[in-house]
Amino acid sequence: MKKKSQMTDPQEHPPIYVTQPLLPPLEEFIPYLEQIWASKRLTNSGPFHQQFEQALCDYLGVKHLALFTNGTLALVTALQALRIRDEVITTPYSFVATAHALLWNGIKPVFVDIDPNTLNLDPAKIEAAITPQTTAIMPVHCYGHPCDVDRIQEIADNYGLKVIYDAAHAFGVQCHSGSVLNHGDLSIISFHATKVFNTFEGGAIVCPDAKTKRHIDHLKNFGFVDEVTVVAPGINGKMSEINAAFGLLQLKGIDEAREKRKAIDNRYRKALAKVQGINCLPAAGEKVANYPYFPILVQPDYRLSRDALYQELQDNGIYARRYFYPLISDFPMYRGMLSATHTNLPVAYKAANEVICLPIYPALSNEQVDFILQIIVGK
Ligand SMILES: *Cc1c(COP(=O)(O)O)cnc(C)c1O
Repeated sequence: MKKKSQMTDPQEHPPIYVTQPLLPPLEEFIPYLEQIWASKRLTNSGPFHQQFEQALCDYLGVKHLALFTNGTLALVTALQALRIRDEVITTPYSFVATAHALLWNGIKPVFVDIDPNTLNLDPAKIEAAITPQTTAIMPVHCYGHPCDVDRIQEIADNYGLKVIYDAAHAFGVQCHSGSVLNHGDLSIISFHATKVFNTFEGGAIVCPDAKTKRHIDHLKNFGFVDEVTVVAPGINGKMSEINAAFGLLQLKGIDEAREKRKAIDNRYRKALAKVQGINCLPAAGEKVANYPYFPILVQPDYRLSRDALYQELQDNGIYARRYFYPLISDFPMYRGMLSATHTNLPVAYKAANEVICLPIYPALSNEQVDFILQIIVGK
């Protein structure tokens, strides 16, 4: 007779990655492709692009939005659109694209530490980093938890700064005043395969008015206004019809996907509340959350170090990720900067050394969650 399988034998479990992209049934996408083949409109603001922009505005509760090929080009273009220069205050605790978008524009990132409760840019530390060269603040709604948008706006208004949110994690998040994407001068979202809502690759800039959107639409199309008029050294950031059509189809499944993520989030939270030395990140005042990641912070009184737990998970076929470790400010193109030191960024440095993001995605089963929990609990 077959021996009862050992729970910890990785052979018994297919690998579990930190995320798995949501995909609709393939046959549902075929009619969209047939339409593209029939129309021969592949890109350049075709019918699906226009429909998807409108559908996203309706779903997200925003007025205007410009689709992009990815979130990084959206970030780079947003900085161009507002003519941001010199120095920009940002967080070291993010995906590296946040600061790279600044460097690509010849802008110097000035890193400011994060709040220990939200792991978002700490508004109380922003003012001390403002210089005559500061032109903008670029915060991140880390893990989809809203920044302190009111405090940040107040500081920006006092000092005459722009605010550009890297809202790559914040698809569908609502705060006290509705969509969190309506804050700041511009917000950027990402539809990369690993995000809560994906179009394979994709992104968008959320803008407050039609005039700004028009300008951004020119910038993402080489600066063309019409056949013979080029008004700026634009880039090619246009989303293709395939991605836009796919996005339209994906929107149909997004609410159900969020409910599944919420259930997993709750299951983790409930079980981990009893585990000594494991802290979960609390919500940050969102009215509607989107559960994109499940970060835990491994404390000194846990039975293992962060990296030992990370390794033990891997030994059991669970590929959790240390988002965001290392800090952006520790990468070679940033670490020489005055603001990049660990003494300037103690909270971010501590979080980067404690965090593990556990797997969370709609198709993750209760059994898989319990298997992951069993390893963390250690019995
Ligand atoms: C994913 C991500 C980006 C980049 O988006 P892409 O669509 O992959 O280019 C930027 N910032 C943050 C915080 C992200 O997580």
